[in-house]
Amino acid sequence: MTANEIRDSFVKFFESKGHLIVPSAPMVIKDDPTLMFTNAGMNQFKDIILGNRPATSKRCTDSQKCLRVSGKHNDLEEVGHDTYHHTMFEMLGNWSFGDYFKKEAIEWAWEYLVDVLKIDKSNLYATVFEGSPEEGLERDNEAASYWEKFLPADHIINGNKHDNFWEMGATGPCGPCSEIHIDLRPEEEKAKVPGRELVNKDNPLVIEIWNLVFMQYNRKADQTLEPLPAKVIDTGMGFERLCAVMQGKRSNYDTDVFQPIIKVIGDLSDCRYGEDAKKDVAMRVVADHLRTIAFSIADGQLPGNAKAGYVIRRILRRAVRYAYTFLGQKEAFMYKLLPVLVQEMGKSYPELEAQKVLISKVMKEEEDSFLRTLETGIRLLDRVMAETRAAGKTVIDGVEAFTLFDTYGFPLDLTELICRENGMAVDEETFHTEMQKQKERARNAAAVETGDWVVVKEGETEFKGWDYTEHECHILRYRKVT
Ligand code: ATP
Ligand code: MG
Ligand code: MG
Ligand code: MG
Repeated sequence: MTANEIRDSFVKFFESKGHLIVPSAPMVIKDDPTLMFTNAGMNQFKDIILGNRPATSKRCTDSQKCLRVSGKHNDLEEVGHDTYHHTMFEMLGNWSFGDYFKKEAIEWAWEYLVDVLKIDKSNLYATVFEGSPEEGLERDNEAASYWEKFLPADHIINGNKHDNFWEMGATGPCGPCSEIHIDLRPEEEKAKVPGRELVNKDNPLVIEIWNLVFMQYNRKADQTLEPLPAKVIDTGMGFERLCAVMQGKRSNYDTDVFQPIIKVIGDLSDCRYGEDAKKDVAMRVVADHLRTIAFSIADGQLPGNAKAGYVIRRILRRAVRYAYTFLGQKEAFMYKLLPVLVQEMGKSYPELEAQKVLISKVMKEEEDSFLRTLETGIRLLDRVMAETRAAGKTVIDGVEAFTLFDTYGFPLDLTELICRENGMAVDEETFHTEMQKQKERARNAAAVETGDWVVVKEGETEFKGWDYTEHECHILRYRKVT
């Protein structure tokens, strides 16, 4: 099955069980101060779950664009280095708002995976909440009893509060969850170590594919739990992981979600995926980040200097830096990958097709501007690392790291990444002290530069002229330097 067929088959399956197919919400969130990006399928239903808005349908299903690069879920550092975490990914989900509960959620998940997709059930494991005596919570025997109809006892695993009890926040809806994991190792490996011992242990071939959350409590302000009047089913399955399973691959990047993009990256860089470990990481980073950047721009989030915009800018710069260092791309190149992404995903996500001209233009501009500073910055960092090494040290001065940030646009994580690859580290504390000093300087610069407009009477410290935001001060300063 192709990725597009798999996505369709999921929502059609749940449609056949009475679910309304709803579109993915935007990945960029503009109206929620607690969250910059959609990080799970349930985000768009938050108000329904909290009872602030009625549900259009008590049963819904979709494929939701998610981004996990900040806050509670941040997988950025893993991306490219492992084979199953992405920055942007699709989460397939089905919901019940006060309608069906554990029995149907488990039975339908099983029916879809085993009867519809024909996944070998001997490779599947389910986890259930083991209970929490201090809170008076018992093991989720109800969920276990439904799993027992399908799975032998040694494929049902107790899980702790961290993995198997979901909470929306400090207060609000919560409840136990059951995850489905799959063992993709070769038979001889399975004979040596049973899959159950590797569940939730970061093994790239024994991975979580689906999380079924059973919201049945409400946590009150005093932290006690009360039963939720309308119980909620909230499930999330990693689409790219499911594609890997269905296409017999051991890495999400080997599926048709990523291979067409990786192929173009290889053609443009004169290399082939699978031949050089470092290039492979770079190709995975570029393929992954391309999606994130393109979809963010399509959803209205341009790269920028603050908040969500800065997150996107940093992701773009991370990709450019990998492409520059490992794929020999010294000129803007990410934007050349856009056509293949649109070709692969534009049908399912029309916003991509509709915005492709803007996306391409923004990407190229961002790439050009970062590449200009990258060249100079890399040379500077090489020199700093050599000097540090010559002095018998392995930690580079935070002042130098700050110069790289301030003058060359290197975010700290980028400098750290390059240092780490060279067996070195950055003195973060000094970096942050310098950052603080810079903010003070920017404030003073604003006062000086607008001095003509300021009317300061004796004893009055209030600033009355033009006021610059920190961001604008930074730009003023930056323009002066360059
Ligand atoms: P993991 O333990 O593998 O990091 P998770 O427990 O953080 O996953 P959930 O929050 O339960 O993930 O999300 C539901 C599903 O979404 C997971 O079962 C997984 O299949 C998928 N998923 C989670 N994070 C990612 C990611 N960064 N990239 C791709 N798929 C993901
Ligand atoms: Mg995770
Ligand atoms: Mg998990
Ligand atoms: Mg999970």
